[in-house]
Amino acid sequence: MKFGGTSVATGENIHRVASIVADSFKEGYSVVVVVSALAGVTNQLMEEAEQAKRQSEKKVQEFTNQLTARHLEAAEKAIEDGGIRKEVKQIIRKTVDELEKVLLGICYVGEVTPKSRDYVLSFGERLSTPLVWGALRDLKVPTQYFTGKEAGIVTDDNFGEARPLMNVTTHHVRERLEPLLEKKIVPVVTGYIAATQDGIVTTLGRGGSDYTATILSVALSADEVWIWTDVNGIMTTDPKIVPLAKTLPRLSFGEAAEMAIFGAKAMHPSALEPVAEARIPVRIRNVFNPENPGTLIANGQETASKDVVKAVALIRDVAMINIKGAAMVGAPGSYAKVLDVLGKSNINIMMISAAVSEANVSLIIRRSLLGRALSALEIALLGRGMVSEITAEDDVCVIAAMGANMKGTPGVASRIFTALAKKGINIRMIAQGSSELNISFVVKEKDGEAAVRAIHEEFKLESM
Ligand code: ADP
Ligand code: ASP
Ligand code: MG
Repeated sequence: MKFGGTSVATGENIHRVASIVADSFKEGYSVVVVVSALAGVTNQLMEEAEQAKRQSEKKVQEFTNQLTARHLEAAEKAIEDGGIRKEVKQIIRKTVDELEKVLLGICYVGEVTPKSRDYVLSFGERLSTPLVWGALRDLKVPTQYFTGKEAGIVTDDNFGEARPLMNVTTHHVRERLEPLLEKKIVPVVTGYIAATQDGIVTTLGRGGSDYTATILSVALSADEVWIWTDVNGIMTTDPKIVPLAKTLPRLSFGEAAEMAIFGAKAMHPSALEPVAEARIPVRIRNVFNPENPGTLIANGQETASKDVVKAVALIRDVAMINIKGAAMVGAPGSYAKVLDVLGKSNINIMMISAAVSEANVSLIIRRSLLGRALSALEIALLGRGMVSEITAEDDVCVIAAMGANMKGTPGVASRIFTALAKKGINIRMIAQGSSELNISFVVKEKDGEAAVRAIHEEFKLESM
């Protein structure tokens, strides 16, 4: 069972989470629990790591004091037993002390590296997990607390987006967690964070607690993974944009992966890879509505739908790069060069589209990587005759319309584009997704939500 940030946002919520685990445990299930940072904490740590570079010690202390206060207050509300509460509070104070030292280090050196950033980011989960562990003990559930590293998750050293090394991970996880499960003890593991073979802290990418859960499930050959979150399941679109969005009761791994890749935030994009291969079913369920069956992701579970489009996603925080140059026309290897430059800088391309004239290539990347991408492209391409201009737009977003039968059905694109045209929304770039399951396009960020609503309406997704 994995619990997301909102599910553990406050002491009250943490108590609710512990009760859900305790109920399953008392029914006789063997449970492993994976916990995310309290809602908003990872973002705060990210910001603080950036700002620490040019901050005073006092500012760092203000931040750590506020972080301590929030977690101590959660302990107050989540844990009744005085002794357990005291122990958890001590862990929280000690952990924040360590964080403070790291942030002061960044302050003095005036630099954050991908490695030190991951170290800072690991503290969100290192603070939330002891709270859940304490709340479980409070409910008389025998339990033990682990970081991802202690649980045995080993990754490569691609900081910020590390990948698990599954063979060695499986070996360690079995060795460490199986004996506990046999003794009816519930392991509680930090989501999102792991370590390299040398023991250096890494993170699995934003939303990575989902990934932790599926990695552990595969290593332990679990029967099912339950991703507990703050909505009923994977829905036709973000219910924050379209309140009438419907929960999709069943999805195949392929469909769900497509949705995760294209921003249905309900899941980390890589999280489904290990379980799809191992054929372990995944359920997305709502902590605030545990009676709802949620979404089941499993083989052969394609959702029947009346229309070709089943869901629409809005992906924010992206940027578009346009590369122009008449000399790119017909020059073999010119695209390869662009991809190579970005690949070597470790920048993932989310979408790519090129005109028939070949004089123009457009790319979509994460917005946070824009500065680095532009700098690398300019150094490698400008002034060498092939490329005459590199420009960027950072006020755009991607909309992806997804559905299994899209490719073979004519007219889907025209219905989408007519729906947008009727709302006066201009499309900046189009790509027939990275698979046959979706059509993606780029609009100005200010038009994003209206575009999602227009497509949701056009394909009548509210009455799926
Ligand atoms: P957690 O903290 O549990 O990991 P996330 O914030 O990562 O939760 O993901 C859940 C949120 O994703 C929901 O609150 C919802 O607003 C958003 N979301 C976006 N698209 C979808 C979708 N298609 N289905 C369900 N939720 C979605
Ligand atoms: N806390 C991490 C994040 O915000 C991981 C997660 O919540 O899944 O990205
Ligand atoms: Mg998440």
